[in-house]
Amino acid sequence: MQILNTQIELEEFLSKIRKKGIKLGFVPTMGALHAGHIELVKRSVEENDFTIASIFVNELQFNNPSDFKNYPISKERDIEMLESVSCDAVFMPTNEVMFPHDYKKITLDLGILDNVFEGPLRPGHFDGVVQVVYRLFDYVKPNTAYFGLKDFQQCLVIKALKNAYFSSVHLVFCPTVRMESGLAMSSRNERLSMTGKVEASFLYKVLATIRDLSVHIEALDALKYGRHLLQQKNIEVEYLEFANADTLMPGKTWFKKNKNIVLIAVYIEGVRLIDNIVF
Ligand code: AMP
Repeated sequence: MQILNTQIELEEFLSKIRKKGIKLGFVPTMGALHAGHIELVKRSVEENDFTIASIFVNELQFNNPSDFKNYPISKERDIEMLESVSCDAVFMPTNEVMFPHDYKKITLDLGILDNVFEGPLRPGHFDGVVQVVYRLFDYVKPNTAYFGLKDFQQCLVIKALKNAYFSSVHLVFCPTVRMESGLAMSSRNERLSMTGKVEASFLYKVLATIRDLSVHIEALDALKYGRHLLQQKNIEVEYLEFANADTLMPGKTWFKKNKNIVLIAVYIEGVRLIDNIVF
């Protein structure tokens, strides 16, 4: 696997592999890789002639400086994991490579996506995501890029970015990979104690309970019950809400003609965790 640190190294690699008709898959990550990331890479390797992953902890998308400072880093292990699934190259730029002093910030109107759920709670987060993914797409020019549905709202933001600037890039959104306990894999789980992980696995149980209840009771009652279950475990809930899964438009009663999504954000041991379920 090629390790590429600069834009020149990346371009040299791309010029070697680019032939008419080759398919290039791309998996952007912030590292501290786990089975969730690796599923995206495996899917790309299966579906393309070449796969590039990127590892870049993008400070711009951290609205909380201590979250950025504490973000886990495991470079050697990440490289081994990518090699084990036959990833062709990993792009690991520095901040200067990603955002040279004269880089041009792009603008993108995210509409409702900026005003619901993660939007208002993490000011600047999606703008940071948009800036970095714009630059990565511009550098790598993939045919297909892979993202995880665990970050559901981010998937819709990336879709908006594609529609505005990268109409030729095909997007693939992959299902959330979970531990046996139901806990969604996340680099942030590494900051949890064993007890914290057990508590965190309760999130998906609550989401699944709400989904199961949705055939019997209305949304607001099901969510109220979900909040009650979390309160009983003393889990600090930031939000537990539902929306139209196509648009993230919140509602008052379950959507009958569209899929519903229930989204959750909590703090456990000071670590912010998110998850969702679509039905
Ligand atoms: P991150 O390194 O957290 O920025 O994640 C990089 C990519 O991996 C994003 O598209 C995430 O949505 C995706 N991802 C993270 N965790 C999971 C998971 N448990 N299952 C599937 N995809 C995931």
